[in-house]
Amino acid sequence: MSNLWENTSKEKANFSQPLKSQTTDLLIVGGGFTGCSAALEAAKQGANVILLECANIGFGGSGRNVGLVNAGLWLPPKTIISILGKKQGEHLISALGSAPDLVFSIIEENKIKCDPERNGTLHCAHSENGMEYLIERFEQGQLFEEPLALIDKTETENKIGSAKFMGSLHDPRAGTIHPLAYCRGLARIAKELGAKIYEKAKVSRIRKQNGMWQTYVQDVEIKSKYLLLAMNAYQDLDKAHNIGKFSTVYYSQFATRPLNSNEMSTILPGKEGCWDTATIMSSFRVDDAGRLIIGTMGNSEGFGKYIHLNWANKKLKDLFPFLPDVEFTHRWSGKIAMTRDHIPKIVNFEENALSCFGYSGRGIAPGTLFGKTCASALLTENLSMLPVSAILQYKESFTRQKTTFYEMAAVANNSLKSLRM
Ligand SMILES: Cc1cc2nc3c(=O)[nH]c(=O)nc-3n(C[C@H](O)[C@H](O)[C@H](O)COP(=O)(O)OP(=O)(O)OC[C@H]3O[C@@H](n4cnc5c(N)ncnc54)[C@H](O)[C@@H]3O)c2cc1C
Repeated sequence: MSNLWENTSKEKANFSQPLKSQTTDLLIVGGGFTGCSAALEAAKQGANVILLECANIGFGGSGRNVGLVNAGLWLPPKTIISILGKKQGEHLISALGSAPDLVFSIIEENKIKCDPERNGTLHCAHSENGMEYLIERFEQGQLFEEPLALIDKTETENKIGSAKFMGSLHDPRAGTIHPLAYCRGLARIAKELGAKIYEKAKVSRIRKQNGMWQTYVQDVEIKSKYLLLAMNAYQDLDKAHNIGKFSTVYYSQFATRPLNSNEMSTILPGKEGCWDTATIMSSFRVDDAGRLIIGTMGNSEGFGKYIHLNWANKKLKDLFPFLPDVEFTHRWSGKIAMTRDHIPKIVNFEENALSCFGYSGRGIAPGTLFGKTCASALLTENLSMLPVSAILQYKESFTRQKTTFYEMAAVANNSLKSLRM
């Protein structure tokens, strides 16, 4: 059972080409949403730009995610302001609130074949407490003029085709995409505009000499004035060059075969992307072909893989009991970069260099925006345009222990929940 997105992407990308030593304006490490969006912006501005990706475009979180193009972070606006302060907090809330517009406009203008559906998302109350949280979240949204709608139990059931939820919060700014196809599409357009993109080009060493960055892929040396590290949870550089230390959380997904029109008739007729209010959350959506995709925290390739698969089988029947015989045909997982306060970071670790990471599970719209603005900020040497103020360094402690703890919690939760469903 493999990654659905790899098997179904309508954007077919091949960026493998021999890499030679050369000089460029901007060098980007990492070919996910952040790196590809940055390459696109730099190429649009007429700069010489090179992107190096150690595996394939979209190999990291960008090719493994749920595909929910959300407006904003997981954190409610008041929490963002309590962490960043009023000015910075409001700036970030507003920038991320309109970030889905950026994503959907890039898709439309460039005809990226990534099955965009902009019918919003539904945050679904899994309990009475969950509903109270949604009411509070709705009220906060009103203070920030977010166009959210609180939906009662009956209407939620009509929208989802499942009676399991107490109600939901609809965000019309959001939507769903095929995430890998979107990422490949960004890279394709960047390349058409002149960006040089290299796959299977693992950066092993970076140093600065005489004001120029020198980035090495084996013995090949790329010199650049500006450097952007966009490796997020998949950063694979030796310790000395890893900018930022944070923990990671696995998230797994399970997809069915395409459901027939009879089976599909009541399930998500509006194709909203959904996730619930549980602490260890689960998500569900349908894809373009009518497959149901269910996800939750945990590593479907790790020691708890049978527990997570068992959870998914039970969850499918719990949500949609009228699908007793449907099985999963695809299963995959990916790593999410979590920061302590769940706010993404931009680190200005040296002059003319930025590193972006820590989207904490919300990287499609934020990654697109952060990549674009980082490229602009570097090329114009004006960091004031960034959506969050750049910091000089970011290091958390006990990250490995936190990562192990999250997986243990997911395994425990999914085995307990499977017993109860
Ligand atoms: C399972 C899952 C579900 C998610 N669901 C959603 C969702 O529904 N909505 C949402 O908004 N966000 C979601 N996210 C988060 C989102 O996918 C990420 O935040 C986003 O993909 C980060 O993009 P990125 O470009 O910064 O990093 P990535 O996409 O991880 O890209 C980093 C790239 O850097 C490359 N790299 C690393 N080291 C090197 C090196 N030394 N040399 C060259 N290249 C290197 C890697 O191979 C990788 O391709 C999800 C994440 C996961 C894992």
